[in-house]
Amino acid sequence: MINKYRSYSSDRSKNDRPLNLPREKASNVSGEGSLISSSNTRSYRSGNNNSRTNNSGVNNSGTNSSRLNNSRTARPRVGGPSSYKGKNNFDRGSRLVKSSPAKGVVEIKNQDNTGKLRVMVLGGLEEVGRNMTVIEYEKEIIIIDMGLQFPEEDMPGIDYIIPNSTYLEDKIDRIKAVFITHGHYDHIGGIPHIMGKIGNPPMFMGKMTAGLVQKRMTEYKKAPVLKIKEITENDRVKISDKLQVEFLRVNHSIPDCFAIIINTPLGKVIHTGDFKIDFSPVNDKPADLNRIAQLGAENILLLMSDSTDATHPGYQVSESAIGDEMGKLFEKITGRIIIGTFASQLSRVQKIFDLAKKYGRRVSLQGRSMNDNVEVAHKIGYLKFDPKIIVEDKDLNRLRDDKIIVIGTGAQGESNAFLSRVVNNEHRTVRLKPGDTVIFSSSVIPGNERSIQNLMDMVVRQGAKIIHYKMMDIHAGGHAKAEDLKLMMRLVKPQYFMPIEANHYMLQAHAELAEQIGIPRENIFVADNGQVVEFKKGVKIIIDKKFDVLGQLTKEKVPTDYVMVDGLGVGDVSSIVLRDRRVMAEDGMIVAIVTIDSKTGELIGSPDLISRGFIYMKENRDLIEKTRTKVKMIVKDKNPNTPADDDYIKNKIRNEVGQFLFTSTKRRPMVLPVVIKV
Ligand SMILES: [Zn+2]
Repeated sequence: MINKYRSYSSDRSKNDRPLNLPREKASNVSGEGSLISSSNTRSYRSGNNNSRTNNSGVNNSGTNSSRLNNSRTARPRVGGPSSYKGKNNFDRGSRLVKSSPAKGVVEIKNQDNTGKLRVMVLGGLEEVGRNMTVIEYEKEIIIIDMGLQFPEEDMPGIDYIIPNSTYLEDKIDRIKAVFITHGHYDHIGGIPHIMGKIGNPPMFMGKMTAGLVQKRMTEYKKAPVLKIKEITENDRVKISDKLQVEFLRVNHSIPDCFAIIINTPLGKVIHTGDFKIDFSPVNDKPADLNRIAQLGAENILLLMSDSTDATHPGYQVSESAIGDEMGKLFEKITGRIIIGTFASQLSRVQKIFDLAKKYGRRVSLQGRSMNDNVEVAHKIGYLKFDPKIIVEDKDLNRLRDDKIIVIGTGAQGESNAFLSRVVNNEHRTVRLKPGDTVIFSSSVIPGNERSIQNLMDMVVRQGAKIIHYKMMDIHAGGHAKAEDLKLMMRLVKPQYFMPIEANHYMLQAHAELAEQIGIPRENIFVADNGQVVEFKKGVKIIIDKKFDVLGQLTKEKVPTDYVMVDGLGVGDVSSIVLRDRRVMAEDGMIVAIVTIDSKTGELIGSPDLISRGFIYMKENRDLIEKTRTKVKMIVKDKNPNTPADDDYIKNKIRNEVGQFLFTSTKRRPMVLPVVIKV
């Protein structure tokens, strides 16, 4: 059934087949049978079997499990709003397959949707992050990307947010395949959490992306074994008679990025993923401009395009230009060079390896994500360097300063990353000293300004010099700027246009660019997360242009509420828990401990009060005594029918003490009553 793809099975043996391959419902297996012929099923990338067992000791993405345990036991089992789906029945990546939506979520009726193409973006239209797009033609669904989003400042203790997959969970037999555009976390981070909930359909992605996804999967032992097929720009995946998928090579800050082209009976849909057009990329092939131009003649129904840099005028800088700037810097520096960048900016890392070789320096890699990414990329040949150039920590201090480059994470001021550990003297081997030069080689992500400034202060206090991306142009973004975006639209000539992958104002800016190049406003859809865009046959005439497909941004919305990942837990942090954390962060908490007689409910001794983050007790004896008296009165005023009903007492303490403290202080600490019966 596979059309004209290259043979996937050629270089693999039967032994490669994952031991515990699919055990899903029969319906899903048949769905996948239409996609991949039986002779090729063994070709799924399966290197993860070994690495998974080897890595059994690795904790989940480095999150702090002890904090998890604490917060878990302390966390009330909230039965409230279940919009954070999966809360009650998701067992973290196991094969649990849910066939009906969580309670409280509006069920969207399965429809035949005859002749209809529906497009909905579950994440990435109201934020930069948690990208996930659903394309549905009649009864067939394909998914593009499954990312995560790092939390907002008002979400204490949340590690990240993943897309809400409720819409998909009762349509498992319709889901035919998942396509991943590239290996950044905002496009792959949700995979271990979501794939098990949607029946683990086959996945298609570039080689580098596959390497990174598999690496991440080793940390989630309960997640299903993924069925990944690696693709290149020469492949074509036949989903069914109606849907086929092709891949278009684009550039970005990581190798192997593909735009996804979906052939539907109504025309082609292009999803660019993150992209820029780089004529001289580092260690990657240039974006396929020829193919992009060809597409213009192939009836492009819809272009969904990266809006991250839509508000920036001009053209994006080529990655190789960055290398030149950095080379000039390296020439002048005589001490150690310490570079902070993103672990995912692999083209930057390649350039640093090249310069290290040129200037006779050796490279020390710091931080787990940096080491992981470099290992994956080197193994599959995307990073090219002689392994001898890497220096181990134990040998680092034996080298002369002018022979050392240290590459690490944390240029955004992230608290646990390499750079911040170094300046806080918490790093095992690296200490800053006069003569060091620290290069911040990534642009500031909005919101991180303060922490970066603090970090820089500390670097300078320790006698090191700073070179910031603003001082020299050592940062090339990974995203197309306004002129690049216009070029893409001009070449592709879509009937309809939908900006994606950014905050709303950036989407609007991109929509304006689309209008400038002549796409009618009526055919530009600036949607919100989950808002359904629908296409069907029909004639539409706008001025002198005739369109043979009717597209509209409908009012229908599928669920997109946050699904939060907190330590090892997924989706079990409800808004109530979050509100509690906010209350505690803002106004602190006060614990009232009372001991009562288990039969009579009579108060024994005096209530204890403990304040954390609310008031300093020693300086507020008066208020504390008044509160204590209040608690005593509440306990004495007991319910005559059930004098020792501790729930009743607790509720009363919570409400009345809360009210009392608010009246006295205008603050609302969390009141935590503890009733001990003896
Ligand atoms: Zn990206």
